[in-house]
Amino acid sequence: MLLKLREVFHKFRLFPSLRVRLLVIIMVVGILPSVLMRYGIMQSYEDRAVALRTNTVQNQLRILANHLITYNYLQDNSSEVIGAELAMLSNLYDGRVVIIGGNFKVVKDTYDISQGKTIISEEVIRSFRGETLSNYDSVHGYIEMTTPITETVKIMTDNGEVEETVVRGVMLTSISTDSIIATMDSLNQRAMILEALMIVVIISIAILLSDILTRPFARITQAINDVKAGYSDKSISVPDYMETVHIVDAFNQLLGRMKVLDDSRQEFVANVSHELKTPLASMKVLADSLLAQPEAPVEMYQEFMGDITAEIDRENQIITDLLALVKMDKKAADLNISTVNINELTELVLKRLRPIARKKDVEVIFESIRPVTAEVDEVKMTLIISNLVENAIKYNKEHGSVEVVLNADHQMFSLEISDTGIGIPEDSLEHIYERFYRVDKSHSKEVGGTGLGLAITRSAILMHRGSITVQSLEGEGSTFIVKIPLSHIAG
Ligand code: ADP
Repeated sequence: MLLKLREVFHKFRLFPSLRVRLLVIIMVVGILPSVLMRYGIMQSYEDRAVALRTNTVQNQLRILANHLITYNYLQDNSSEVIGAELAMLSNLYDGRVVIIGGNFKVVKDTYDISQGKTIISEEVIRSFRGETLSNYDSVHGYIEMTTPITETVKIMTDNGEVEETVVRGVMLTSISTDSIIATMDSLNQRAMILEALMIVVIISIAILLSDILTRPFARITQAINDVKAGYSDKSISVPDYMETVHIVDAFNQLLGRMKVLDDSRQEFVANVSHELKTPLASMKVLADSLLAQPEAPVEMYQEFMGDITAEIDRENQIITDLLALVKMDKKAADLNISTVNINELTELVLKRLRPIARKKDVEVIFESIRPVTAEVDEVKMTLIISNLVENAIKYNKEHGSVEVVLNADHQMFSLEISDTGIGIPEDSLEHIYERFYRVDKSHSKEVGGTGLGLAITRSAILMHRGSITVQSLEGEGSTFIVKIPLSHIAG
């Protein structure tokens, strides 16, 4: 029933406002019972009053029936006593009494209409068989009764004297129920006045209650609007209901997340500007000092210009890395997936990096435990391997080594890149994937780092739904382990 009601509400989008719904529900719940109660009370009053009236009249009719027998009225209707009794009965109940004799002939009609006529109806026949019947006609406002007029006679049988009841005639009585209906009308009127008063009270309560109950939701909307308009960035609190607490909690969490994102965006912009300004500042210093010495020797010009070129390269590198990072921020759907032989790809990357390693006298070893082909984005995979191996070379020691181990199980392939380098301090381990984070700024600058490499690498790995972990001991070396699913997981 309730479910049906909900469906109806939903289907016709009846009362889309919670407030109006509450108003309607409170009104229906408040008013319906009182209307039903009035109807029930009136109905039961009517039933009881009719039953009582029927009973009283029937008792009187029974007494009258006895008198009719006593005065032999059915044979001779001239008895004045009975006449008076009949007149009193008709007057008292505003009714009509018709007395029918044994041959269905009307002996007496108080309305003097049917006198001498024959009445054969179902009720009369049934009453001649001994039944007492009554029927209430609520539409026309009368009760009709058929009562047998009986006489007890003594009959002699083989077993001795037996008493037997014989039906001598039937009384057809109809009495008006106007007085009952009049009482009911006045009762109904009073009940309706009371009901109208109650409806007014209930409607006022419903308006007030629906307003009070929905006020917290209006407060939530107001608070959210304040945040939206920028008047406030504080967490909102509407602790009125458990439901509002849940909504507000969820909203505050969203707000918190947005703040974190906003903070990190601001920090990123600040970092980018700083990083881009540093090479510019160096170039300005170099250029200024040349300008300050018009007589400067050619060697000095050459040296400074070399430095300026290096700074330009660095600026270029930062911009290239930034662009790569911005690309990584896009969704995994932008991956250009193909089936790639990871062994060959790793070999290729290592071949490109070996000259740099040789310069530092670092040995690069590749160990492939099994051949691996996987569904990956080839360009991004190249970036992942080269960034990690490049770091392993950059942050290595003289005569050190870098070992790359490729392995796979039935779901993932793993690349383990370990070096014998300077290692990463424990408290830096959790920060190395942050943009622009460098353990040792001066050293990093010396080896040409931008602090974006690992951030790019991690993003590319996450786009493949893979993982990256690191183990490192300061002074001993580091091991980065990358795990990537063999088949691409879309979505
Ligand atoms: P960078 O361009 O400075 O190398 P990365 O994001 O690649 O930036 O690395 C961040 C920092 O993590 C580096 O500055 C370096 O301090 C540290 N790091 C990365 N890889 C290694 C490694 N193999 N050994 C030691 N330190 C490392």
